[in-house]
Amino acid sequence: MTVIGGRPLCYRVRKSRRARKLGLSVSKREGVLVTLPQRVSYAEVPRLLEEFSDWLDAKADEFDVRLGPRVKQYGRGSEILVLGTVRRIEVRSLPAGRVRPRFELQDEALVMILSPDQVLDIRPALEKYLRRLAHEDLPPRVEHWAGVVGRRPRRVIIGERTSRWGSCSATGTISLCYRLVMAPPEVIDAVVAHEICHLVHLDHGPRFYELLDRVCPEHRRVREWLREQHEALVV
Ligand SMILES: [Zn+2]
Repeated sequence: MTVIGGRPLCYRVRKSRRARKLGLSVSKREGVLVTLPQRVSYAEVPRLLEEFSDWLDAKADEFDVRLGPRVKQYGRGSEILVLGTVRRIEVRSLPAGRVRPRFELQDEALVMILSPDQVLDIRPALEKYLRRLAHEDLPPRVEHWAGVVGRRPRRVIIGERTSRWGSCSATGTISLCYRLVMAPPEVIDAVVAHEICHLVHLDHGPRFYELLDRVCPEHRRVREWLREQHEALVV
């Protein structure tokens, strides 16, 4: 915790083996985060915060993270959106000695069968579930849309993306955010169709939209949905 602009500001510091220089980021999911390369001392942090205090002050208010990340709290009666349907989260205990979490997706519930440790904080298990589901659900959709458009991606990466739901690189790699599986199937399809169309036109020019409109006319409605629900698709 520090004080910036006369008000408290919470931040976290993370040491990173990969980071080359000091980093500072502000997001809803992670709050104010300072990244330090392995060799840099924690003593550098106050100077960095001071140097960027105006920027931090504005960003922390913009994202409403002065008192920490804006993440969901899970407890009794919590719900989660899976494939566009709100499901009740039901937590059960794994038999003694078992640690591999199991999940059952039901019409109205997501049953999570967890070890005592995992029950204390279910968020990591929820993330694991959604990642697992994404690896089952997304590749067949990529195949489908690749068939419709007539272009195959060279590689598909399913991971965490904070700013966009998907992207397509010039080398033909499509990246998709695993949290997409929280959205309704038609929304997931439209995002995948969008990225597959980029294999033909890498920009957002008229020819790109001509193609996307032809293969997936729903995409415009879906964009609206994603914009409105952005906050809901967070674990
Ligand atoms: Zn695009």
